[in-house]
Amino acid sequence: MNKERKLIIAGNWKMNKTVVEALALVGALKTELANINQVDIVVCPPFTALCEVARVLRDSNIRLGAQNMSEHAGGAYTGEIAAEMLKDLAVRNVIVGHSERRQYYGESDEIVAKKAQAAHVASLAPIVCVGETLAEREAGRMEKVLETQVRGSLAGLSKPQMVETIIAYEPVWAIGTGKTATTAQAQEAHQFIRGLLIHLFDEATARGVRIQYGGSVKPSNARELMSQPDVDGALVGGASLEARSFADIIRGSMSVG
Ligand code: PEP
Repeated sequence: MNKERKLIIAGNWKMNKTVVEALALVGALKTELANINQVDIVVCPPFTALCEVARVLRDSNIRLGAQNMSEHAGGAYTGEIAAEMLKDLAVRNVIVGHSERRQYYGESDEIVAKKAQAAHVASLAPIVCVGETLAEREAGRMEKVLETQVRGSLAGLSKPQMVETIIAYEPVWAIGTGKTATTAQAQEAHQFIRGLLIHLFDEATARGVRIQYGGSVKPSNARELMSQPDVDGALVGGASLEARSFADIIRGSMSVG
């Protein structure tokens, strides 16, 4: 593998899997992916399965991630989960600002930035999601939308925090739809985001940040997407729910040149 940055591939299980199902999936992944260390591998089960999955993943090459967290450190926020609580379960990454959270739960860039900052306070590495809708793309507003989201969602991060932050470019029109961005579309968006990071931070910081692509990634398209110079991994939804397809995505990425 000859990439500038180590690839990071994360599975977002969304609101799927009981504890028993989660343990079966992660058990199979441990077998399928044993000894793979060339790629950072992350699974993000629902909160209810984190504790049990953490126990199974201890001392393995698969990292534990969460799908969301509160922007608050603790207190009277019924139903919320604080970063420290995730840290306590050996969670290492946390997805913030997924388009489903932005769309269904009204999460603004300001809230996403607060969550990213709170994640760093607890030494969790956030995966900050950005991406345009189809209407925005067709109206020629992709760059404007990405600029607003990147500026707003990463506000307040220091350069060292930024290098530890992962960005997931997920065009909303490609999530769960079976429509994948072409490699050229993905590279163009990723390059644009990295350009923004140079402007907002500096060249060295921007070159260190890993930018995942997300949106209907599957074994048949993952390798080509990750071969693009600015595509540093994938955030995988549907295809991460089955051990074979997630493992195939990871194995395919190992021959990315
Ligand atoms: C996602 O949930 O982040 C995602 C990209 O989903 P899918 O792979 O199913 O499109």
